[in-house]
Amino acid sequence: SNDYRVVVFGAGGVGKSSLVLRFIQGTFRESYIPTIEDTYRQVICCNKNICTLEITDTTGSHQFPAMQRLNISKGHAFIMVYSVTSKQSLEELKAIFDVIKEVKGDMEGIPLMLVGNKCDEIESREVDSQYGQDQANRWGCGFLETSAKTNYKVKELFQELLNLEKRR
Ligand code: GDP
Ligand code: MG
Repeated sequence: SNDYRVVVFGAGGVGKSSLVLRFIQGTFRESYIPTIEDTYRQVICCNKNICTLEITDTTGSHQFPAMQRLNISKGHAFIMVYSVTSKQSLEELKAIFDVIKEVKGDMEGIPLMLVGNKCDEIESREVDSQYGQDQANRWGCGFLETSAKTNYKVKELFQELLNLEKRR
């Protein structure tokens, strides 16, 4: 089918919803509204075809395991978000990566991006870029630092993911 399903994972408060809303609607809000689970659809043009990009914005690391597994098995591509202001939020992604690997079996050809969000928060940075890059190398996935707030590299993030898909 022409559906391309992207699932966004990461701890609560790292900016998953903000990244998705920035990409889809071009907006940003300062307030924190916890997400249950939202799905956004956008019609895009890929390889000269019309296709539907479906983005599932999950609730965070404390999703029901059955929901998490269902999202993973239905998903084509994954974004794992942490905040550069929280080393703990990067640690929490390890468990998610393990579940993705377990459900998908072989990670070969599965588009996956590790994203360090909130890179505008210079004063409270806890995770340096190299640390994030090293983790991405160990996982064999793409890596970017973004800011949903300043709209830094948000478009690039989704573009990179689609590029990884095309290389399959
Ligand atoms: P989620 O729980 O991962 O979906 O996180 P949200 O998108 O709801 O964002 C949590 C909080 O972080 C909100 O108060 C946002 O305004 C803020 N936030 C999100 N992205 C950024 C960012 O890039 N920079 C800064 N400074 N704050 C952000
Ligand atoms: Mg959210």
